[in-house]
Amino acid sequence: MIRFEDLIEKVRATNADADIELLRRAYVFSAFEHKGQVRHSGEPYLVHPLEVADLLADMKLDVVAVAAGLLHDIVEDTQTSIERIQELFGTDIAHVVEGVTKLGAIQFSSSEERQAENFRKMLLAMVDDIRVILVKLADRLHNMRTLHHLPEERRLKIAQETRDIYAPIANRLGMSKLKNELEELAFKYLEAKAYESLRQRVEARRRATEGLIEDLTKTISAKLTEAQVPVIHIDGRIKRLFSIHQKLKKQKIDLDQVYDFMALRIVSQSVKDCYAALGIIHQTWSPVPGRIKDFIAMPRPNGYQSLHTSVISERGFPFEVQIRTAEMHRIAEEGIAAHWKYKEGRVGADRDEQYFIWLRQLLEFQQEVRDPQEFLQNLKIELYPEEVYIFTPKGEVKALPRDATPVDFAYSIHTDVGHQCVGARVNGKMVPLRTRLRNGDIVEIVTAPGHQPSRDWLNFVVTSRTRNKIKHYIQAEEKQRSLELGRKLFEKEARRYSLNLKGLTDGPAFAAMLGEYGYGKGEELFAAIGYGKVAARTVLTKLVPQEQLKETPESGIASVVRRVLGPAEEKIKVRGFDDLMVFRARCCNPIRGEKIVGYITRGKGVSVHSAICPNVVNLLYDPERRIDVEWDKGADTSPYTVRLSLQVEDRKGILADVTSKIAGINTNIRNVEARSDDDQTGRIDMTVEISDVKHLQKVIKSLRSVNGVVDVERASR
Ligand code: MN
Repeated sequence: MIRFEDLIEKVRATNADADIELLRRAYVFSAFEHKGQVRHSGEPYLVHPLEVADLLADMKLDVVAVAAGLLHDIVEDTQTSIERIQELFGTDIAHVVEGVTKLGAIQFSSSEERQAENFRKMLLAMVDDIRVILVKLADRLHNMRTLHHLPEERRLKIAQETRDIYAPIANRLGMSKLKNELEELAFKYLEAKAYESLRQRVEARRRATEGLIEDLTKTISAKLTEAQVPVIHIDGRIKRLFSIHQKLKKQKIDLDQVYDFMALRIVSQSVKDCYAALGIIHQTWSPVPGRIKDFIAMPRPNGYQSLHTSVISERGFPFEVQIRTAEMHRIAEEGIAAHWKYKEGRVGADRDEQYFIWLRQLLEFQQEVRDPQEFLQNLKIELYPEEVYIFTPKGEVKALPRDATPVDFAYSIHTDVGHQCVGARVNGKMVPLRTRLRNGDIVEIVTAPGHQPSRDWLNFVVTSRTRNKIKHYIQAEEKQRSLELGRKLFEKEARRYSLNLKGLTDGPAFAAMLGEYGYGKGEELFAAIGYGKVAARTVLTKLVPQEQLKETPESGIASVVRRVLGPAEEKIKVRGFDDLMVFRARCCNPIRGEKIVGYITRGKGVSVHSAICPNVVNLLYDPERRIDVEWDKGADTSPYTVRLSLQVEDRKGILADVTSKIAGINTNIRNVEARSDDDQTGRIDMTVEISDVKHLQKVIKSLRSVNGVVDVERASR
């Protein structure tokens, strides 16, 4: 058990000027407050805060953090208030203790809504003062070390929470030493049988290779000296049980096939020496192909840097070698704590550190997410990053989560590159935007100025950053479109009664009416009309009494002009797929070039039907909601999918004839299905990619020319 005097020595060793008096007061206060309390182990409670403070001193954190470690359970477990802590120990310490107390109250195994809210609170506390999470992690580590004293049920709950939440957070903060111990302990309690059996097998294998690690260490040490590559130290070890366990499970392999069962770690003085050492190792033992990883040139997102390689020893045993500088080693073990201890005073000084960037971004992007399920999903991706490394054509490297797509990559370069992304070349070949990228892919993004993100992208992108950028854009765009649409609809309504927009919106009546609806600006009202929340006609009758509204019949000449030239007002443009407020109706699925009509739906914008769609007749029911639309020329040129239904003679080879005919006129077939109706006739249903109405006519015409095709029909979706 640690003594307080040992703790003081440790703190002094890092910081000679540390306020020891403050620590002593915190210790005495903690001892007094926890007096009489005992842990499940039967030890006095004070042991726990003392051990936690010791772990924080090991991380070389400042006096505030160590003192907060001594005091961290007082508010929760005694009558003492946070105000009292502040009076006695100052704002900083009270702030950290309060944060830790709040985190302690969080139930992560609750309903999804509560969980999401709790995570959000935790992230906020972390961003506010990173020492809160460091104290919490130290607290959790000591609790895990003494977990065997607790009853089974609580043991499992705490171990599960450690595996799901605290270990991944420690990992994301680069604190691998702490993370490893948390994971190992969680494994021991959560999967006791698997843990014990693996422990025995690993132990047996270790005995079988007794002395091997020592031999390897000696050999490489001699080789490096001979080659005059200076090293600080070399150590050998057996891989952690949990990581062996995961490997066996994931790759479905046997213990003998684990290449990094044993690992040597070489800590050298410089990056140059690291690469030199790698060369010596490959000269000494044969490397295993595909196992060389350069995390020095391509650091992991949590800042980890090292060279990894696997080689086969003279005795036929594979083992892993990790090579890194002393600085990299320290960061690999301690992560955020390694950066932290150099700075004096508050964390504010190094807000630009990558961890803070990650934390702040995470929080920023999550703030807008309302759906708890989505929030947790996003967080999971952020906390369990199994990343892939993707290259730009210029050789710059980006780390992305597994299953990332070219769209995620585009947004990782720049928001505008993401927004304007229309295609991607992976290793020189054009691929669909939903393609999952693989490690080492060279990705070139094709952009088109003015192109806009598609709602469809949300179905496949994986990073929360990308997701939020797209959503944000779509929302802004929707708002803009609905505003324009609403204004147009209102104008149209006004014109029916020969009223003009300016006259209507300038007067006090308009302002009063806005107030009645609770809108601050006319734009908000127009947006509501565009969304179908408020009818343009209702608004108009509030401005002009019903009896004064007189529809002006079109004069004979005006109606002729109208018929010849089309309506004077500007039509709503239909772009194609990516429209946000204007979409093609599913019933008739009109394609570019066809005559179309628009209909204002309630809340979904304008649905566009083919003029010959049978539903259009029904739309006349509510003529006020019918609007003129036209295709926007030259916008989106991606193909439409059209389903064709063919009635055919049931003869051998007809399917082949039909498909080769289609292929012959350069048309893609997405899907084809054939079946027999009765003895003589059959039916072929196919989905083809069509660029416009002319193209469709050409396809239908050539299908009809196939011998045995009786009829070709365009089917609704
Ligand atoms: Mn505690």
